Amino acid sequence: MNATAPPSLARAARAQWRRWLLWSALLLLLAALLATAMVLARGFQESQARQQLEHETANLVSDIRSGLNRNVQTLQSLHTLGRSPGAWEQFALEVLEQHRELVRLEWRDRSLRTLAQRVSPFYQQNLGPRPRHEVEQDVIAACNGARRTSAPAYAPSYFWPDKDGHGQELMEMCIPMSDGGMSTGYMVATYSLQGVLTELLERGTVRGRGVSLTEVDGTRLALSGGRPRGDSIATQQLLELPGHVMMLRLDSPRSLMGLSPWGLTGLVGALSLMLLGVLALLGYDMRKRLQAERELAEALAFRKAMENSLVTGLRARNMQGQITYVNPAFCELVGLPANALLGKGIPAPYWPPEMVDEYQRRQAVRLAGRTLPREGFESVFMRPDGTRFPVLIIEAALINAQGVQTGWMSAILDLSEQHRVEAISRASQERLQATARLASVGEMASLLSHELNQPLAAIASYASGSLNLIEHPQGHAVDALPDMAQALRRIASQADRAGKVIKSVTDFVRRRENAQDLVREQVRPEALVQAVMPLLTLQARKDNIRLQVDIAPDCPAAVCDRTMVEQVLLNLARNGMQAMPKGMPPEDSGLRVLRVAVWKLPASHADGKVWLHFAVTDHGSGLSDDVAARLFTPFFTTKAEGMGLGLSLCRTVIEQHGGTLVHEAAEHSGTVFRFTLPAAHPTP
Ligand code: ADP
Repeated sequence: MNATAPPSLARAARAQWRRWLLWSALLLLLAALLATAMVLARGFQESQARQQLEHETANLVSDIRSGLNRNVQTLQSLHTLGRSPGAWEQFALEVLEQHRELVRLEWRDRSLRTLAQRVSPFYQQNLGPRPRHEVEQDVIAACNGARRTSAPAYAPSYFWPDKDGHGQELMEMCIPMSDGGMSTGYMVATYSLQGVLTELLERGTVRGRGVSLTEVDGTRLALSGGRPRGDSIATQQLLELPGHVMMLRLDSPRSLMGLSPWGLTGLVGALSLMLLGVLALLGYDMRKRLQAERELAEALAFRKAMENSLVTGLRARNMQGQITYVNPAFCELVGLPANALLGKGIPAPYWPPEMVDEYQRRQAVRLAGRTLPREGFESVFMRPDGTRFPVLIIEAALINAQGVQTGWMSAILDLSEQHRVEAISRASQERLQATARLASVGEMASLLSHELNQPLAAIASYASGSLNLIEHPQGHAVDALPDMAQALRRIASQADRAGKVIKSVTDFVRRRENAQDLVREQVRPEALVQAVMPLLTLQARKDNIRLQVDIAPDCPAAVCDRTMVEQVLLNLARNGMQAMPKGMPPEDSGLRVLRVAVWKLPASHADGKVWLHFAVTDHGSGLSDDVAARLFTPFFTTKAEGMGLGLSLCRTVIEQHGGTLVHEAAEHSGTVFRFTLPAAHPTP
């Protein structure tokens, strides 16, 4: 057994494997594409969010800066209002009450001695027990800077504990005061960094986020809003103040930026699922298409095999008469390859030149839209070597899916073989008829000899009697002469009878010899019967049979081949006589009678034709079932000297005339053979 799979199976398996590989690669690529898209989208979103956040941070820095600048102006105006320490403190309290970011205000003289001071009522209770001088260095540093630049200056922040054990970052700011260009002292303001964040920034901008001030190294100094939990983005900006630099840091949760990781993943996931769904649908669709393609290929292969196996030639032509399709059988039939036929119009390469005109006329009829007979028509085609051959063409209109006729489809059958068989059968039929004729001639010869025996014997005996009279006149009476004359008359009459017998036979035989093909003529039934009568009489006399002929008076003439029908009558009558046992019963019993009857049948309803009915009745032995079954089979005979051709020929002849030949049991005994022949139309 061969263990390897057939090549087509192996090819199919390879194609399947390739398909799977392609699908897997496609899925992998898609997954990679989706992941990349996700990362890129996330990166893009994050950079957008970061930009926005940085912009917001810059806004916050500028808010703080402008808040601080506004405070500087407020503090400068405080100085112009409060000229005495008492009044100053009064105004300072008002300022502190309005600005919660300020913890303390001090008025110092040019050598930084405190002239007046005020602590914010909001911080007073809570400020821890730390002596002020511990931060004097910061105040000095800030005021030195202020003096140098003649502008407000800040000192680095420092931690100041609260009473409750916590604490906060504070920052000193020093504003130089002058009067008429002369330095008059300093205004020192202590800022709470926490306060700066909560008071100088609008609450709305901070909500949900963490805003913190840190050292440049990242150490946190103050925080507002609380650090967001979870995933967040942070941006920071420098907050440069004269004398001190800090960082403002803004922490924003991703969710607040529309950057929820789940949202994006969910979106990409949903997209992926949809993509997979579409892929699955595409896959299903492709499967169905592949299946449809496979089915189509199978149907095509089936059609191809069918066309190739057909022995009938197939040919399609368009409405212009050009050949659009031929099958191998057609190519073989006309002996031309398909490419020599396709696209060829009128005249087609297989039309015999002498037929072109006729075929063109036929084509014109077809193109004019007249339908052709369904049973087809015969035609003649030609092979390239010039041989002509008969074909049967059956045509049908080619209708497309829109119901429009696009051409003609023809099935072409080669009739050469059929014609050959028909010719052979015709020839053998003719031979059979000739043989049958010979047979009946043989029979006639025996009848003739039997019939001639009697007159010849009579002639011989009259002749010998006459001779006797001549040779021995003395032994006879004187009136022997009249006896001789009598004998000679009898001889003459017997010779005449013999001559008639011979003439009747030769007449019959000569007519048959002259008869060539089937010729139709109008013959009266009496004439038909009379023609065979002499021969029938011979046999009837021999077999001691009475012949009875009944022809209805209104019988029209039959349209038939006279010779053939006479032969039929002769055959049937002779068969009937031969079927009657010889010798008995006696002639007068009424049973040794052969009856030939002819009458006219009423006109048929279907076609109005009139038929003549012939019946040949005998009183013979009848037909056994076995004989009846094989009666018309050629060469079937029960007679020692029979040929068995008579009845089969009779039936052929009658059927050639369009009639029928049947038989049935006769009324008392014997058989009736009946046949019909077309009657001539009565002349008006
Ligand atoms: P053949 O006469 O040479 O035998 P036929 O074809 O005429 O050939 O007849 C075939 C056979 O049919 C006869 O041998 C005979 O047995 C039978 N047959 C024909 N006609 C009759 C008839 N009228 N009665 C009985 N038998 C008949």
